[in-house]
This record gives sequence, C-alpha cells and structure tokens, in this order.
Amino acid sequence: MPERLQGAGVSPGIGAGPVRTVAGAVPEPDAGARHGGDAAAEKASALAALEAVAADLEARGAQAGELGNTSGMEVLGAQAMMARDPGLADGVSAKVDEGVAAARAVYEAFGVYREMLASAGEYLAARVSDLDDIRDRAVARLLGLPMPGIPESDEPFVLVARDLAPADTALLDPAKVVAFVTEQGGPTSHTAILARTMGVPAVVALPGATALADGTRVLVDGGAGTVQVDPDEAEVAAARGAATARASLLTEAAGPGATKDGHQVPLLANIGGPRDIEGALANGAEGVGLYRTEFLFLDRSEPPTDAEQEAAYRTVLEAFPEGRVVVRTLDAGADKPLAFLPPPGDEPNPALGERGLRMARSYPDVLRAQLAALARAAAGTTAKLEVMAPMVTDADEAASFAAECRTAGIEHPGVMIEVPAAALRAADLAAEVEFFSIGTNDLTQYACAADRQIGGLAAFQDPWRPAVLDLVAMTAGPAAEAGKSCGVCGEAAGDAVLACVLVGLGVTSLSMSAPSLPLVRAALARHTLAECRQAAAAARAARTAKDAKEFARVLLPYLSDLGL
Ligand code: PEP
Ligand code: MG
Repeated sequence: MPERLQGAGVSPGIGAGPVRTVAGAVPEPDAGARHGGDAAAEKASALAALEAVAADLEARGAQAGELGNTSGMEVLGAQAMMARDPGLADGVSAKVDEGVAAARAVYEAFGVYREMLASAGEYLAARVSDLDDIRDRAVARLLGLPMPGIPESDEPFVLVARDLAPADTALLDPAKVVAFVTEQGGPTSHTAILARTMGVPAVVALPGATALADGTRVLVDGGAGTVQVDPDEAEVAAARGAATARASLLTEAAGPGATKDGHQVPLLANIGGPRDIEGALANGAEGVGLYRTEFLFLDRSEPPTDAEQEAAYRTVLEAFPEGRVVVRTLDAGADKPLAFLPPPGDEPNPALGERGLRMARSYPDVLRAQLAALARAAAGTTAKLEVMAPMVTDADEAASFAAECRTAGIEHPGVMIEVPAAALRAADLAAEVEFFSIGTNDLTQYACAADRQIGGLAAFQDPWRPAVLDLVAMTAGPAAEAGKSCGVCGEAAGDAVLACVLVGLGVTSLSMSAPSLPLVRAALARHTLAECRQAAAAARAARTAKDAKEFARVLLPYLSDLGL
C-alpha cells in the first residue's frame, strides 16, 4: 500500500490515530452446525452472549442519552430489552437441547421472532432490522467475529468504512473519532455533511480505504484529502501546527456576515437537531438556515409523536430568540430513507423517486402533523420561523405547500430549489412563496445527472460547474425581482471561495455546517460586493469547474490572507 493515499477532502482539519474499521456483515452460521454434546455449557455460552449484547446496548443507550440523542437512547434501550426477552432465551435453549450449536441456535431462535414481527403490520415490521442487529451481535460474539457497526475503542481513532449511513453516525462521540475516511461518498454525501457538522476532518471517495489494517496509524488531512500511512511524529506535529495557525487567524472574525463594503449577508447554520445548537452558537451563526428535521428521526421505526416534534423544534427556536430559523419539512427518501415513510412502490432510482415534498402525496397527515407541531412550537417564541419544503418541482407544488403552511398558522412558507425545473421557472415559484433556499447538493446532482452517493462521480458533483452557477443566478434574479430572499443552504455555501461567488450571483444568505462559518465570514469581510460580482461573472464565463474556480480566485485577491 502506498504511504500517502489520495481521496476527496470534504471536511478540513487534521486527525491522527489508529484505524478502526466498520466491520462488514456477519455471516449466517452454518445450517448444520452441531455442538459437541455438552448442552449445558453450550446454553450457558449462548445466553451469556445475549446478556453481553444486552449490556452493551444498554451502555450505548446511556451514552447516546448523555450526548443528547434521546431517540438513539430509546432505540438502544428497546433493543437491550429484546435481547433479554425470556421467550427468546427459551427458544435458544430448546434448539441447543436438540443438538444445535450455540451460534446457529441463536440465529434460528431469532428467525422465529423475525417472522412474527415481519407479518405484524408496518410499524413492527420496521423493527426487524433492530432485531437483526441484536442477532448479528450475538452471533459475532459466539463466533469470535468483529462486531458489526461502529467499532469500539478505548483511545481516539480514525473511523474507516465503505460508507457511513447517517444512522450509523448518530452515536459517534466527536471526542473519540478524530477523522472519517470512506471508500464511497462524494463531497455532498451525508458522511461529508455529518463530518462537517461535527467538525471532524474527513476524506471520502478513497479507493481501498477498508484495506487499511485495524490499528494502522494514519494522519488524515481533511482539507487536502490525503491519508498518510504510518506518519512520523514530526509530520503529525507539522500538520497540527499548520492547522492551529489557521484556526487562530479565524478567531478575529466575529459579528454578522457582510462584505467589506457593508453589504449584509446573514450567515446561518445547517443543523440536524438540538445537539448542533452549541456548535452553531459557538461559531457565531446568526440563525438557522436549514434544520434537517429528518435527521431527528433517522434511527426510528415509528413516526415521532406530536409532543416530541414540538419539543425538538421549540428548543431550536428558543436558542435563536432574535434570529431566523428555517425549518425544512421531512426530506425522506433516496439518501435519507426513513423507516416509517417508505416510498409507495419499488424504486429503481430512489433519487428520482418519491422523496421530499413528493412524499406528502402518500402521507399527507405526516406533513400536516409536522406543520402543526412547528406552529405550536413557535407560539410564544420570538425567533422568526420560516418553513420550507424539499424537492419542489413547480409552482403548483409551491402553492399547495404554502397553502398547507398558512392553514397550519405558519406565516413564512418557502421552498428549496433543488430541481433544475424549479430553478428554470423561478419566477413562477417566487410568486407563490416568501423565500427560496437553494440546495446546491441536490441541484448539482440533478443538473449533472450524478448520484451524490456514488464516490466515483465526485467530479460531476462539483457546484463550481458553470452550469450550476447559471442555475443559481437564474434563481436569485427572479427572487430579487419579486422581492423575495434567496439563500443557499447546500454545502457550496460553506466553501469560502464559492461563498463569495454565490453572493456575487445575488444570493442573500448563506447557511452551512457550523465549523465553516468563521472562514466564510472572514473571506466575505475581505472583499467588496463589486469584487464578488466580478468573480461571479468570471466564473460563469468559464467552460469548466476548474477554470471557474481559478478565474474567481484571481478576482478575489485577499483569499491568500486566509491560506485559501
Ligand atoms: C441540498 O440538497 O443542497 C440540501 C441542502 O439538502 P440535503 O443535503 O439535505 O439533501
Ligand atoms: Mg437536498
């Protein structure tokens, strides 16, 4: 393996530590496996494995609770109870009495429960994956295989995986994980977004990452996209020194976002729930520009209750008493599947399927319950609540969403511009809603027909592509003419160079993962609106993404002060 591996850097910073790999699937134990005759000992080891799994899940649940992840705590608590189910233990014992080896007995006993749950209606069927997880953990223990899911470690480590689902990362402790490295995933994948939100350096789209042996020490540079194998102490110290110098430069930046000549550009945070509030405030967010409400419920098999939703929304609104809080209604489907909102049919291309606002056609009550919970949460708070729908395609959809919002008592409805058709007809949509927020992650995915979950297509998912910049300009122009605000909340807003270009294209606010705020604030503060406009015009005149970036940089002369 070469000493320095190159992937795509998606969350800046330096992380050094031993590799811990997310293990692959646990294989089904051999169907004919028999024990050697000592049934009592075999039963004891099977039941001990189940108890160890239960205790582990319980401990992880408590840890999730300490991290403020109450839904994770509940799911893990419920799983621990399932692992301790006496009926399950009886089933295992009966199989062992028939001569079946412990691991196979566990597998078969779970099979009985699995079938019962799978046929017991939609909600219970969604618990099957929780049950499979317990089974796999117990089987892994009995066969001496690595535990599935996020590995355990006593020391801080670099998490390596093929890809990470948002639910996998719900329990990660940022103090323990010093960097992420994945084989899959592009710059707008949710691994990348979560890493940036957590402030953890990350490299994605790194072929062969999972071939790194567990325990190998690596140095991850999430800005340059490199992973150095077996670095020496001096290399680690030099990398950390450079990162610290850059961080100290940024502490100078504070206050509301504005260009050098005072053109205001509110700088807002993208959050996934109350646990991201602290980071947003620490980095000087003026409000929330994208509250991804589905992140609250990714690990849930049942819809959240009205009271739970209301409480989560109120916590965020209360954290920004003088700011804007832009909440997005559930964006289920494709890269963010929710177990309780499955798409109505088989979808060969989920990214082009029933997702975002389209789900409201199948589940209108879920949208209404969410809007009602938001309206109740906002009552008595002083933040300006704005509510937007994801994946809106045309003016009719925008109008019906706005009508639903107003019926629920929400005064400021808006839409995300993520579908090229919506960008091309922005004037029609602007007539229906109060504001736009451009989701450049999906807008780039759809404009370039490149699935954002496929690491090998990263070059097509580049928001610097002039075609994407054209779509942004085509959205911001009609919004301004209609007197409506037009923010960007895709990851492009957190790229300090591109942020200046977006402002030059007419974007009125920028929302990003909190750790990106200081650098964006500093880059804007160093350039005038005229310079941003010139950079935007030059970028749009380019033929390629690479040229667009280079042309813009030449016209933004103070980026070098920031090491950009
Ligand atoms: C986007 O698509 O740019 C966006 C902000 O939404 P998400 O990344 O959650 O799809
Ligand atoms: Mg999106």
